[in-house]
Amino acid sequence: MIDFSLSKEQKQLVESAREFSTGVIKPAALEADEKGEFPEKIMKKAHELGFLYTNIPKEYGGTGMNHIDHYIVTETLNYDCCAIGQMIGISHLGTGAIEIGGTEEQKKKFLGKMTESHRSACFCLTEPEAGSDAARMQTTAEKKGDNYIINGSKCYITNGQFADLLCLFVTTDPSKGNKGICCFAVPRDTPGISVGKIEDKMGQRALNVVELFFNDVEVSKEHLIGEEGKGFKLAMMALDRGRVNIAAVCTAISQKALDECIDRTQKRVQFGQPVSQFQAVHFMLADMHALIMASRAMYLQSGWMLDQHMPVNIEAAAAKFFSSDAAMKITTDAVQLHAGAGFMKGSVVEKLMRDAKLTQIYEGTNQINRIVSGLGLLRRDSRLF
Ligand SMILES: Cc1cc2nc3c(=O)[nH]c(=O)nc-3n(C[C@H](O)[C@H](O)[C@H](O)COP(=O)(O)OP(=O)(O)OC[C@H]3O[C@@H](n4cnc5c(N)ncnc54)[C@H](O)[C@@H]3O)c2cc1C
Repeated sequence: MIDFSLSKEQKQLVESAREFSTGVIKPAALEADEKGEFPEKIMKKAHELGFLYTNIPKEYGGTGMNHIDHYIVTETLNYDCCAIGQMIGISHLGTGAIEIGGTEEQKKKFLGKMTESHRSACFCLTEPEAGSDAARMQTTAEKKGDNYIINGSKCYITNGQFADLLCLFVTTDPSKGNKGICCFAVPRDTPGISVGKIEDKMGQRALNVVELFFNDVEVSKEHLIGEEGKGFKLAMMALDRGRVNIAAVCTAISQKALDECIDRTQKRVQFGQPVSQFQAVHFMLADMHALIMASRAMYLQSGWMLDQHMPVNIEAAAAKFFSSDAAMKITTDAVQLHAGAGFMKGSVVEKLMRDAKLTQIYEGTNQINRIVSGLGLLRRDSRLF
């Protein structure tokens, strides 16, 4: 019943993703981190090779992978730089709500158009006064005949400056809380959309993260995904998938940190022997590895559940908070094992530690994910067997 062997096709996928990561992402990683720039050339190349829209069905121009395959490829593409890896995979979160709630016609139109270019999508939920409490959003959609007029702003939007397709959450009535929220597919060239502050970040610096303004943005009812007032549920379902994706990203960060430590501790000689010979170091490497095994198993289980169309809310939240806390611990310990050399700017583990921090914050902070998981457990039995 349980089989962790990869099929021939999966092996080929991982091989070619690894080749892309080693050959294209790795050489660009440190410079992209230093400059904090959108990796446009890499996005173009990833698009040509079919890595950009792995999760999008073939009929809408994507590669058409199931969840498990997409997450395995995500881990592989995030190994050498998780910021570039996540820019490549951003459509997974960006289009999740459209894939779940859109009609066939909407998916053909919006996803089909998006997959023609390398600029992908973005997920626009957070606002200055609505972070963890996303349902308090103030960006409004006012109905005018068959159209909606959107006004307001969003902040911290990944790929917000470049995305061709915006998956935008707004409210038709702020007093209704989550029951007033609607989801719209908004093409970038719709008049009235402008970019505000471009964020300068502590880690994952190659992620493009910006503020967006919506000034009398007019869209027809054909852009409404699902029903009016049902957008919050779509956002949460998209986040379930996104959180499993983050667990795959965290596994990549952690694996890279462990590999760097194995390499470094075998080369660094102190007290007349490689530091890898000290038992205290074995304990640290073993703990890192155990956390990685668990993180990988959690995204694989959650991905499998998504492929079986099972509810995954509790498991996705658990995979996200566990694997990101693990990545933070592992990368902090990796800096410890590299000691002075690891603390210096430009070292791989220094970047990994800064990158890991964000994974505890976005797609619901780990406090919020523990609430999601805990409340879910009180509502239903989450046991697999
Ligand atoms: C680099 C980056 C990229 C991002 N990309 C996107 C994106 O593409 N799209 C998007 O929509 N958003 C994005 N976000 C936003 C992100 O999801 C939010 O930052 C996150 O949900 C937290 O909101 P906040 O920062 O306003 O924190 P706050 O909600 O202000 O939280 C502050 C603190 O209070 C805690 N807290 C809040 N409520 C509770 C509670 N009920 N119980 C216990 N503790 C609580 C939080 O855990 C946190 O520690 C991004 C953020 C960053 C930093």
